Amino acid sequence: MKITILTMFPKLFDSFREGPVVQRAIRKGSLELTVVDIKDFAPGSFRHIDDSPFGGGAGMVMRCQPVLDALRSVRGSAERGSAVSSRSTIVAALSPAGRPFTQKEAHRLSQVSHLILICGHYEGMDERIYRHVDEEISIGDYVLTGGEIAAMAVSDAVIRLLPGALRSESTSEESFENGLLEYPQYTQPAVYEGEAVPEVLLSGNHARIRCWRLKESLRRTLERRPDLLEGRQFTEEEIALLEEIKKDAR
Ligand code: SAM
Repeated sequence: MKITILTMFPKLFDSFREGPVVQRAIRKGSLELTVVDIKDFAPGSFRHIDDSPFGGGAGMVMRCQPVLDALRSVRGSAERGSAVSSRSTIVAALSPAGRPFTQKEAHRLSQVSHLILICGHYEGMDERIYRHVDEEISIGDYVLTGGEIAAMAVSDAVIRLLPGALRSESTSEESFENGLLEYPQYTQPAVYEGEAVPEVLLSGNHARIRCWRLKESLRRTLERRPDLLEGRQFTEEEIALLEEIKKDAR
């Protein structure tokens, strides 16, 4: 998979690129990560990227020309609109007005061959830029200064799903993967400052451990994110465990 990030601040991605998961995905041949400096496409020595908004108001707005020239440099303009490219290339702008980013979205984006992420800045981008964008992605209901942290969050969630990116094979028990939050995890020592690890985890009984983990996943999701359980088709085992959780609470 190729991920190309268009940004006015490419240096912000230096450490991100050095991260172990990103590096492993690159080494394994699963990922090609390119960061493009939008300023390279701005004319003149002033690298004029922004301008004041028509109609007045606070702040500056990113101009069409540098952003769209940067986009065209990484994606032939003929590609846009063809059925093939829509499956293989997605151009996404990071935006607080975008579709909320979720684990499901991360899985979807991990299937495309080329993901192009455009980072906004200032008050945002000229609206006409969005006509060249397939989708807008929001990482939450708050306003960041720029799209760079959002692009890193989206890229990170996508990259760790690529083959070979993670050392351990499976992400299937992580939060959101099965519609539940993950169960609590513990490591050595078995007792720390008088607090012991749940006995079942030391039992070596894999069936009991699996059952305990499912119950704790259900409990945690019920307590912290009951919205995730809405519309869930519970298994018989899950229904029985939910009954136990209710009894535990009494
Ligand atoms: N004026 C815009 C508004 O009110 O919607 C906010 C612009 S924000 C200061 C600048 C850039 O940060 C945006 O263009 C976008 O790329 C990025 N950004 C800010 N919040 C974001 C979020 N929650 N999710 C994704 N990107 C975000």
